[in-house]
Amino acid sequence: MCTILLVEDNLLIRELVREILAIARYEVVEACDGTEALRKVAEIEPQLVLLDIQLPGLDGYSVLRRLRSDPRFNKFPVIALTAYAMQSDRQRIFEAGFDCYMTKPIDRASLLENIHSLLVSIRLADAKRATDPLSTTGPSSTTNHAS
Ligand code: MN
Repeated sequence: MCTILLVEDNLLIRELVREILAIARYEVVEACDGTEALRKVAEIEPQLVLLDIQLPGLDGYSVLRRLRSDPRFNKFPVIALTAYAMQSDRQRIFEAGFDCYMTKPIDRASLLENIHSLLVSIRLADAKRATDPLSTTGPSSTTNHAS
């Protein structure tokens, strides 16, 4: 089962997104603000994070910066949830290191599609690392006999 951390301070949006994810059989853990988000990431180590940009206290950018600066948590995909769709915001979101963004109101089909493709690409990258003999993080390579 794949665990997703949903960080959103708006109760209605949180309930809506939780339901979309639950029906698609993802396990959902919720956080209402940035501090809670950071605590829950450390607790549950989710496979993916949905992160609202506008949060009370630490905003989405600050949360992402802290996640990416921690080697334990800098790999999993993070999707920004934003009320804005302006070009400058889009640019700022990608420059900040988000993998993707969703504009509210959240479209169910695109949300599930984005989540799915990010999880698939993570799995492919992991599989590649595990089988690549040149990789320093994969299993140690054995002697390669020429045939
Ligand atoms: Mn918000």
